Amino acid sequence: MYCPFCRNPDSRVVDSRMADDGSAIRRRRQCPECGRRFTTVETTSLSVIKRSGVGEPFSRSKVINGVRKACQGRPVSEDDLALLAQEVEEQIRSSGAAEIDAHEVGLVILGPLQKLDKVAYLRFASVYQAFESLEDFESAIALLRQEAEEDAGGIAAKGAKTSEKSPL
Ligand SMILES: [Zn+2]
Repeated sequence: MYCPFCRNPDSRVVDSRMADDGSAIRRRRQCPECGRRFTTVETTSLSVIKRSGVGEPFSRSKVINGVRKACQGRPVSEDDLALLAQEVEEQIRSSGAAEIDAHEVGLVILGPLQKLDKVAYLRFASVYQAFESLEDFESAIALLRQEAEEDAGGIAAKGAKTSEKSPL
């Protein structure tokens, strides 16, 4: 690998460290020519198999482009999207798979997207889970409500009391 500073075609490994989850190795390298240090990261190559059967390297920017449209007009920042793509990649890599179907990538996206923005999640899910009717939306929304109530716990129970109709 070329030195990124002086393009010298040789470098020396001064330190190797495995990532905590064992999914990558980071190598600290030093260039014998200019003496500067840089880091390389070694991971198994992860291929996304498209519907045509053709594989291509997993790309975080493709994940981001895939959800960007669903996030239009929503309070979702570029940082949020970058973080989501990182979560998606980590989740896929932690499964240990070297290949994943493009459709499955979409399904993995649903988890972190649901946490990020409920509306964007519904838009995205309607495409990836091929919603065909209002009932599909209704059951997805019912599931979201149920999870939100479980998260809120006691607060939801309290809210139910105060929303009782006034006797007047
Ligand atoms: Zn150099």
